[in-house]
Amino acid sequence: MKGKIFIISGPSGSGKTTLYKKLLESNKDLIKTISVTTRLPREGEQHGREYFFVSPKMFQHKKRAGHFLESQQVFNNYYGTPKKNVYDLLRQGKNVLMCIDVKGAEVVWHKFPKAIKIFIKPPSTAILKKRLVSRGSENNEDLELRIKTACEELKKAKLYDYVIVNDSLNHAYQKLETVVNKELNRF
Ligand code: ADP
Ligand code: 5GP
Repeated sequence: MKGKIFIISGPSGSGKTTLYKKLLESNKDLIKTISVTTRLPREGEQHGREYFFVSPKMFQHKKRAGHFLESQQVFNNYYGTPKKNVYDLLRQGKNVLMCIDVKGAEVVWHKFPKAIKIFIKPPSTAILKKRLVSRGSENNEDLELRIKTACEELKKAKLYDYVIVNDSLNHAYQKLETVVNKELNRF
């Protein structure tokens, strides 16, 4: 299989979605896997675009049927990467981008040791909190859980091939684009 796998992880609110959406716009050779989740859609999110939004019952059914390459409970919901989606893309020679949590990332890189691992870090916890609050997508309880979990996730940054600090968006994006282009051109 010719395609390469890129994994992007990092705390909630670190800017993964903002960065990967920009990357996909300017890089048509890179296709993002669309995960299945039990989380409710946020305003503006579309079924089949950001995620496949399903009920907990449907998620468990898919899990039992072997639908996922990996799946995890993240915060209070379940998320899974569809296996077929990944293998189909790789067989077509496409480069695959996954935006998944640190636990799921470890499962994927054990299956695909050549996967390129990129960690997006917020400049500080205070800024992370500010950005999550301004996104306005979580209630207070979920927000606290995401911030608490961030401290644990940040400890995993050293396991990644690249760590990008999302200070100014343009700066972080340039770094991400440079890393991805470098890896795409590597034989
Ligand atoms: P994640 O996907 O990692 O949870 P998002 O991409 O949703 O994070 O970003 C969280 C919030 O922070 C969003 O409201 C986004 O617009 C904002 N954001 C992302 N990067 C920056 C940045 N460099 N400077 C300021 N705000 C940012
Ligand atoms: P959010 O609810 O903010 O979209 O995502 C919460 C967390 O779940 C993020 O860290 C995101 O990267 C992660 N995530 C999204 N899809 C998957 C997936 O398929 N598998 C795993 N393990 N994590 C995922």
